[in-house]
Amino acid sequence: MSPVRPVILAVDDYAEVLAAVERDLRQRYRADYRVLGATSGEDGLSAIRELKERGVPVALFLVDQRMPGMNGTDLLIEARKFYPDARKVLLTAYADTEAAIASINAVGLDHYLMKPWTPPEERLYPVLDDLLSTWTSTTRPAYDGIRVAGSRWSRQCYQVKEFLSRNNVPYQWIDIDQDAPTRELVQSISPDLSALPVVLFPDGGHLTCPNPTELADRVGLRTRATMPFYDLVVVGGGPAGLANAVYGASEGLRTLMVEQSAPGGQAGTSSRIENYLGFPSGITGADLAARATAQARRFGAEILTAQQAVGLRREDPYRIVTLADGSEVSAYAVLIATGMSVRMLEVPGIEPLLGAGVYYGAALSEAAACRDADVCVVGGANSAGQGALFFARYARKVTMLVRASGLRPSMSHYLAARIETTPNIEVLPGMQVASVEGNGHLERAIIRDVHSGRESPLDMSAMFIFIGAAPRSDLAAGVVARDEKGFILTGPDPSRRGGKPEGWPLERDPFLFETNVPGVFAAGDVRSGANRRVAAAVGEGSAAIYTIHKYLEAV
Ligand SMILES: Cc1cc2nc3c(=O)[nH]c(=O)nc-3n(C[C@H](O)[C@H](O)[C@H](O)COP(=O)(O)OP(=O)(O)OC[C@H]3O[C@@H](n4cnc5c(N)ncnc54)[C@H](O)[C@@H]3O)c2cc1C
Repeated sequence: MSPVRPVILAVDDYAEVLAAVERDLRQRYRADYRVLGATSGEDGLSAIRELKERGVPVALFLVDQRMPGMNGTDLLIEARKFYPDARKVLLTAYADTEAAIASINAVGLDHYLMKPWTPPEERLYPVLDDLLSTWTSTTRPAYDGIRVAGSRWSRQCYQVKEFLSRNNVPYQWIDIDQDAPTRELVQSISPDLSALPVVLFPDGGHLTCPNPTELADRVGLRTRATMPFYDLVVVGGGPAGLANAVYGASEGLRTLMVEQSAPGGQAGTSSRIENYLGFPSGITGADLAARATAQARRFGAEILTAQQAVGLRREDPYRIVTLADGSEVSAYAVLIATGMSVRMLEVPGIEPLLGAGVYYGAALSEAAACRDADVCVVGGANSAGQGALFFARYARKVTMLVRASGLRPSMSHYLAARIETTPNIEVLPGMQVASVEGNGHLERAIIRDVHSGRESPLDMSAMFIFIGAAPRSDLAAGVVARDEKGFILTGPDPSRRGGKPEGWPLERDPFLFETNVPGVFAAGDVRSGANRRVAAAVGEGSAAIYTIHKYLEAV
C-alpha cells in the first residue's frame, strides 16, 4: 500500500494571507506533507471531517484566530476531537494575544505565531520543524486501507468483520469505545450510533451497516454473473464446490460458482486442518480456501460471492438457478455442493448475545479480542477440539463443555491427546449449557451436569459453539429427492428394482453423484452417505466432473 502523506491544514479567512501561508508551507514541507487550505472555520471543520473519514493523518493545524463565524480557538476545539495528536498553532495579530494565551489551556495550543511571520526561515520554520518532528516521532504510520469502525459487542460488526476476513479482504478494526476520535467521526455519520459498523474506504466513501452483497460490491468482489448461460453452475463454494469448479474450468467447461458467503465453506472456518493430504504440518481453512479460489479463477471459473441460490428448475435441456437478487443463470448441468450449516444451541438468553460474545464455529476474527480472557468451547468433536487449541493460543483459559463422558468417543486421537497436554484447556465432561447471561455482551453461562442436573455459573467473555450441523438442501426441496434428514440422494437407488430412483425419466441409470433429476448433481457434505471430511468433499467434487462430462456428451 502506498504511504499516505500527512496533512498540514492552514485556515485563514483572508485569501491573500492564506495564499502566503500555503506558499511558505509548501516551499519547506511539500516533500513530506500535503498542504491544504480553508478560508473559514466552518470549511476547515468539514475538511477535517473528510480527512478523518478517508483515514488521512493530520500533523498540524495552522489557524487564524480572528475569523467571522467559527474563530480559530473554536475550530481547534473541534479539530482536537478528530485529531487529538495533531500539533495546533494559532496565527494571531497583536490584539489577539490574550485569546491565544487563553487557548493554550482550552485546546492545548502548542504555539501561537504573530502575523506577519516573515522571514519564515526565522519566524515560522524553526517552530514548525520542532512541532512536526515531535509529531512524527510519536505517531504511528497511517493505515490507508479499509477501516471497520464499530462496537466490539455488536452482531452486525462481527458479521462484517467475518465477511471481510473470510473473503481475504484486508481491513483495520477500530473499536469506537476505545478510540474517541473515530467515535466522533462515526457519530457524525450515524448520530445515535444505532447503525454500526461504519465501513470507511480509502477513497473517502463509507457504508453504514452494510449487508454482504453491498459490501462485496463495494470491495470489488463479483456478485453478478457476466453471462446468462454456462455449461456448469456450481452452487456452494466449500471444498466440494471449489474442487468441482477447478476441474470443470480446467477441462474447458464454462463454469460459474455461486457462493452465498465466502469460498471455503465449513473448512474455511477451521483454524487448522491437519489431516488433509500434502500438508504435514496442517493448513488453516482460510489458507486452503484462498489457494483453491485462486486456482479456480486461474482456470477461468467465474465466482460469485455474497450471492445465494434460492431456486432450481428444469427446462430441458437447461437447468435454471434463481439467485437471491431475482436474477437467473442457466446451464446444461448443475452441481449442488451446499454442505451443512451449524446446528443452533437453543438455550435461554442466547439470541441477543449472538455476535456479542456468543459465536458459532471458530470466529477467527475474534481471536485477538480473546487475549488473556476466559473463553468456553461447546462441543466435543474434532471441530471443537481444533477451536479449543486455537483459542488456547490467545485466551488465559479455555473451558470445553462436552456432553459425552469424555473426548475420546467423538474426537480424533491426535487432537484429544493435544488437548489433554495443553495446560490452559480444561475439559468438563458430562456438562452442557443451560442458559447464557450478560448485559449487552456475554458475561457468564449457567452450566448443567447432565447426570445430576446440578447447575453452576461459569464466567466467560466468549463462547464458541461447535455442536454439529444439518444439511443445507432447501434449494433442492421439491426438486430433487432427499433422504429423511434432508441429505440429497444420488446415483442408482439399490433399494428399488432396476436401481432407478423415484421420478427418474431416462432409460439409463443415473450416474454417480447424479440426483433423480438428470443433469443435477450433488457432492460433499450435503450428499446422503457423504464422509464429511475435507478430503472426501474435494474428492467428490473432483470426481463428479467425470460424470458431468458423460452427461454433457449426451445433451
Ligand atoms: C470448524 C470445522 C473444522 C473442520 N475441520 C476438519 C478437519 O480438520 N478435517 C476434515 O477433514 N474435515 C473438517 N471439517 C469438516 C469439513 O470442513 C467439511 O466436511 C467440508 O467443508 C465439507 O465441504 P462441502 O463443500 O461439502 O460443504 P461446506 O464446506 O459446508 O460448503 C458449502 C458451501 O455452500 C454454501 N452455500 C450453502 N447454501 C448455498 C446457497 N443456497 N447458495 C449459495 N451458496 C450456498 C455455503 O455458504 C458454504 O460455503 C471441519 C468442519 C468444521 C465446521
